[in-house]
Amino acid sequence: MARDEAQKTECPSTVKINRLARNGTFIQRIHNQDESVFFVPSMTSRSFMRTISQFLLLLLLILLSCQSSQTAEPEPIQYSVPAEVELYVKSFREEAGKRNNPVSTANLIITFGTVLKEDICGECLLENGKTPRIVLNSDSFCWQKANKEEREGLVFHELGHCLLKRIHRTSKFTMGAYESLMNPDNVGVYAPCHYPIGGEECDKRSRRDYYIDELFAPATPTPAWAK
Ligand SMILES: [Zn+2]
Repeated sequence: MARDEAQKTECPSTVKINRLARNGTFIQRIHNQDESVFFVPSMTSRSFMRTISQFLLLLLLILLSCQSSQTAEPEPIQYSVPAEVELYVKSFREEAGKRNNPVSTANLIITFGTVLKEDICGECLLENGKTPRIVLNSDSFCWQKANKEEREGLVFHELGHCLLKRIHRTSKFTMGAYESLMNPDNVGVYAPCHYPIGGEECDKRSRRDYYIDELFAPATPTPAWAK
């Protein structure tokens, strides 16, 4: 689920775009525009001085415009999570703790809102010096009618991007299930069906331990149920 890029212009000489889309793909581009100034030798002294003045003025303007963005303070550490999402962030902290993973959730903003374009249920926005932001779609498919495993899966997936810096993992086991909660299509990999008529195949809650293990440690071996 590719996302459009967000653009942040810092300084005329270096434009850096650094964005983690929901699909976890880092889009990073750096343009360096080294512009040299040449003087024409036959220029008269007065016009030469005028050119020098104009050049210095331009240089001053460039320096000032760079300074205003380069001295911008990084955002302070902040935490803001909707009440009905908090239990899943708490659960993430607990699961990280069980696995001795030092990841911190202290600097995090989660909101319900409009997820842009091709993203369906959530997105993670990472920008240098800024608090990681997750936007969740609160519509019936993504949240209102989702069961708690699907909600947790969605929150964990986005935290996987935003805090664990994971990208998508699209591979599947030979039996067909995704190898990771970080797949781009389905955050219900350990959820029960909404209409439980398929027996064990339909209730995948017993797979949760594996998927959480894999979230924190991608090298987790194939579980027995997938062999
Ligand atoms: Zn994703």
